[in-house]
Amino acid sequence: MTDRPIRLVPTLRWVCHDDALTLLRDTKAVRVKGDKEVLTRIASALERGTTRDELTRHAPADVIDAFLARLGAENWLSGELSTPEAPGMPWERQLGYLSLFGTEAGRMQERLRAARVGILGVGGIGGLVAQHLVGAGVGALWLIDDDVVAAHNLNRQYLFSRKDFGRPKVEAAVDALTAHSEHTEYHPIRLAVRSAEDLNVLPDDLDLLVCAADVPTDIALICWRWAGPTGVPLVSGAVGLGSGYWGPLVVPERGGCLDCFDHAKRAQMSPLEHELRQALTDPTPYSFGPSNSVIAAMLGHDVCQYLASGDCASLGRRAILRFGEGLSFFAPAPESRCPAHETD
Ligand SMILES: [Zn+2]
Repeated sequence: MTDRPIRLVPTLRWVCHDDALTLLRDTKAVRVKGDKEVLTRIASALERGTTRDELTRHAPADVIDAFLARLGAENWLSGELSTPEAPGMPWERQLGYLSLFGTEAGRMQERLRAARVGILGVGGIGGLVAQHLVGAGVGALWLIDDDVVAAHNLNRQYLFSRKDFGRPKVEAAVDALTAHSEHTEYHPIRLAVRSAEDLNVLPDDLDLLVCAADVPTDIALICWRWAGPTGVPLVSGAVGLGSGYWGPLVVPERGGCLDCFDHAKRAQMSPLEHELRQALTDPTPYSFGPSNSVIAAMLGHDVCQYLASGDCASLGRRAILRFGEGLSFFAPAPESRCPAHETD
């Protein structure tokens, strides 16, 4: 094994007591017993950046190896020898935070900078997701919406203001986002998406498509008709009255399939639920700012984490939030598969 550089991830804190070292991050703590001076030298070296061989000057190799293995198991060791910096950039304070998603914050920020994301629907969910992605430094956004800004949007669509009334949402959104950050490339597309073919306006090498539209009712599955064959990962989020959801994020090249998810969901519905689903196809005309914001924020969180690290909590599963109870939970994993995958 080469003596590669190692360093504590930037979000990790540590404190030495008389006979032990405690390392902690968030709610997780690891305690290592030993001589205070030796442990302080090891922790200080790891904080600055060091190598395993250098650390063996302070303690026997087997002790160092056991210690490093313990930290490695927690994903607390990074191969990046310096804390990445982005002075003057909107995402400057985010870099250390990214180490919650993996060990190499600088590389994850580079992935966000290189990411190309489509957002369908620039309303109460999509507009806020766009704001989060721009703040996080995502490189390029394709925004699709056919609607114009109206007064009744302003309880939840914070990208827009009164001066935008009557303007296409995609144009007003690009103006607002550009005012916020010049570090993202914007592609506004004014279009009502009604079929998978309509999405051919998007590049086929997107890193992710976010479906944040609510008409037609099956818009997420329409997106999947395009994203699946194109190989573009897809995620959706929406808000009803008392609850909202985000996910599942499906990645075609890893075998993800939104049809399987939908098939399993329908298999669990009662006859009455099937009847209601057929009859009630219009989304609710009522909306509430906070409930849109919280779903958009959770969706934005998982989109950023996925783009940075390739993983997130809603990968392959749906998270549901019941606002009145302050309760979120994951829908059970699908037990049945769609006809294309039932023999898998
Ligand atoms: Zn399937």
